[in-house]
Amino acid sequence: MREVVVIGGGIVGLLSAFELTKRQISATVIDESEGGLASWAGGGILSPLYAWRYSDAMNRLTFDAMSRYRDLFGELVGSCLDWSDLHQGGLWVQVDTKEMDSVKDWARKWGVLSETLSGSVLLPSFPFSEGVFFPDLGNVRNPRLLKALRSYLVSRGVSFIKDKVVSLLPKQKGATLETQRGLVLNPENVIICAGVGSDKLLSMLGVSLPMFPVKGEMLLYRLAPGKVPSVMLTQSGYLIPRSDGAVLVGSTLSLGDCTTYPTVSGRYQLEAVAAKLFPEFSSLKPVHHWAGVRPGSEVDHPHIGVVPGCTGVFAAAGHYRNGLVSAPATAELLVQMVCGEKPNIEPAPYSLSPVLRSRSSFFKR
Ligand SMILES: Cc1cc2nc3c(=O)[nH]c(=O)nc-3n(C[C@H](O)[C@H](O)[C@H](O)COP(=O)(O)OP(=O)(O)OC[C@H]3O[C@@H](n4cnc5c(N)ncnc54)[C@H](O)[C@@H]3O)c2cc1C
Repeated sequence: MREVVVIGGGIVGLLSAFELTKRQISATVIDESEGGLASWAGGGILSPLYAWRYSDAMNRLTFDAMSRYRDLFGELVGSCLDWSDLHQGGLWVQVDTKEMDSVKDWARKWGVLSETLSGSVLLPSFPFSEGVFFPDLGNVRNPRLLKALRSYLVSRGVSFIKDKVVSLLPKQKGATLETQRGLVLNPENVIICAGVGSDKLLSMLGVSLPMFPVKGEMLLYRLAPGKVPSVMLTQSGYLIPRSDGAVLVGSTLSLGDCTTYPTVSGRYQLEAVAAKLFPEFSSLKPVHHWAGVRPGSEVDHPHIGVVPGCTGVFAAAGHYRNGLVSAPATAELLVQMVCGEKPNIEPAPYSLSPVLRSRSSFFKR
């Protein structure tokens, strides 16, 4: 295989290009923006929220995310990425008694260390006590990771084209694609990982998947480093600490909304969450407020695999709230399929063909 064109330069596209370069296959990434519609905006929690509510298919892509990111950091740490950008302070989750057995079963099944712990042990003013702490989980500082990944890929010869793909036509192998600026390419291997834009591209190839945009807003406050020691997740919202004292408060969920500007109502909603979870925030002003668009999916895991009826065209789409945690495993699986290698993860559950897939209630995720 000589070259692969990757449409989409969010976390899934960049890590796919990373997997290709590991195999000495040259890659061209085409993206209309820089940093992804969702990938730079996300919180970077390296676990699905309430992972035990998800299917095995989702958990298989996420349970070893921390160690996958540790390996990745081993390659990338340098001028724009530091080991402290992989925050290993743990994840505390509010869990009520009814759900406790499922949590313990899940932790046993996936080999995740857990302990029942009151939230106030980690954060003295925290208003929720019933919960579980996962000391080995954490979060990644995604904007820095994306920057480091991109500059690593450039140094390995990956080409980046800033443009929008507006037409995709399947050919005997691969596809002919055309961009907004009139560039025409005829690659034999194409990967579509365009986040919320994948829907439109797949429909040009006659494939329709149950996907939709879900806008999410986030606030950032500054505290002394270490004041919030771990990710604190509740039903009302979450706190995500970075090692320099920045704390993210998230997030809103607006179904069907594809806009990327932050809103006044989003800010009010998140300020209320912030003050509830950490009363000190009520006397502080957030220093940053932003929005991104999650590639939502009706099924509770992404679609990964060959595009039906299109030899040489592959896609990874619909990562919803879990694209950062599942991207390393997604990219590995995808590129193994592109290269005809034996996949480490059974690919059938992620197929883009219309088969019965596992679902869990969208609103519980
Ligand atoms: C507020 C918020 C919080 C989140 N928190 C977390 C979290 O804590 N943990 C976690 O795991 N996930 C989280 N997520 C979800 C995660 O960010 C996404 O699932 C993930 O980033 C999706 O990555 P992607 O590469 O598929 O898509 P994207 O990052 O959206 O990248 C797709 C790229 O494709 C490009 N594109 C689209 N159409 C075209 C086209 N026609 N031509 C050229 N380029 C195109 C876009 O410009 C974009 O750059 C969060 C998301 C949000 C918004």
